[in-house]
Amino acid sequence: MDPIELAAQLASAGPICDRCLGRRFAGLGSGLGNAERGRSLRAAAGVPAPPEAKCWVCAGVFARVAEWAREAAELVADREFATFLFGVHLSPRQEAVEEFLDEKFPSPWSEPFKRDANRELGKAFERILVERGRLATVDFARPDVQFTVDLESGAIALTVAPVFFYGRYRKLARGIPQTHWPCRSCRGRGCASCGGTGKQYPTSVEELVLPAFLAATGGTGGHLHGAGREDIDARMLGRGRPFVVEVKEPKVRTVDLEAIAREVNAAAAGRVEVLDLRRGSSDLVAQVKEEHADKRYRARVAFGEPVSEEALARALGALVGEIDQRTPVRVRHRRADLVRRRSVHDARGRLVSPTEAELEILCGGGLYVKELVSGDDGATQPNLSALLGVPAKVVELDVLDVLVA
Ligand SMILES: [Zn+2]
Ligand SMILES: [Zn+2]
Repeated sequence: MDPIELAAQLASAGPICDRCLGRRFAGLGSGLGNAERGRSLRAAAGVPAPPEAKCWVCAGVFARVAEWAREAAELVADREFATFLFGVHLSPRQEAVEEFLDEKFPSPWSEPFKRDANRELGKAFERILVERGRLATVDFARPDVQFTVDLESGAIALTVAPVFFYGRYRKLARGIPQTHWPCRSCRGRGCASCGGTGKQYPTSVEELVLPAFLAATGGTGGHLHGAGREDIDARMLGRGRPFVVEVKEPKVRTVDLEAIAREVNAAAAGRVEVLDLRRGSSDLVAQVKEEHADKRYRARVAFGEPVSEEALARALGALVGEIDQRTPVRVRHRRADLVRRRSVHDARGRLVSPTEAELEILCGGGLYVKELVSGDDGATQPNLSALLGVPAKVVELDVLDVLVA
């Protein structure tokens, strides 16, 4: 097909502006914009140009690009971003016309209306940023800010991508859940037993960590995603547990993480501490959640009857290896009831009295240590209680280390 002949046919189908004509030949030669390309093809084909607003393909929407770009710049005037992207919604009429042209006047060089509109909006937006002394680049995969222009109504919607921070937390006090727990009696509505707070526990790691991030970023909300979680009554010591903080709709993305750490650690002193804070991307959440790191625990254990050092040493030796652990009774309401194969890499300990011991257990991720000790009515095999032949129960548990590769 000869481009000039095709251009003449397109012009005969309805009034078409230079830009919309040129877009049908976008892949033809380089260095030209669609409007210039359309103009030269029109001249070569010898067809007259309609006024732009009369174009039946775009109805003159490109005349509004500068105005939309200015509006977009206003929407993010007080927001930090390094990357952006424009998207458009075509009107049903524009969609139908494009489909019609693709069908009746197929062109191997054509580019979609949307791509042209997005690019023009992006270019106009970049020019405004430069005028204002700001710098940002287009990012098709993960823009910090994204604008969607409805070409029919003219409305612009802004989407701000969340910002992510990696860190590790230490939990120095017992009785603190990782994230907030709704009150068991009222399910969060607020009642007498929770003092109207709607919470089962007065605070959580998330509630102690998040506010400083929200204050620094100006975000509207957020989450703390932990790499697993310790029991509420267990401390998390050592180098801490990896987590990711996700902040929604941040105004500021570049923050002083050392200042945030100082602030969290002062406000949560004696309860929670954060360390190793750094900026991350959205992949972090999945990474941290999938991590099945080995853990080192310290457990204070009480026995139902006196136990000898030899018996304890023998039982701990026999505990090392593979463990078949059925979902503990206490979590069966929220986890599938399955038998999972877990492992204990090392177990050692000493008696602090004939009926009490302090143990250190190094195990693979996902093992429930309380049930490894008690046996959970036989749901965990082997278990310390059965190996010793006496009832055994964890009375205090600390995570000493989360061994991330
Ligand atoms: Zn047009
Ligand atoms: Zn309540």
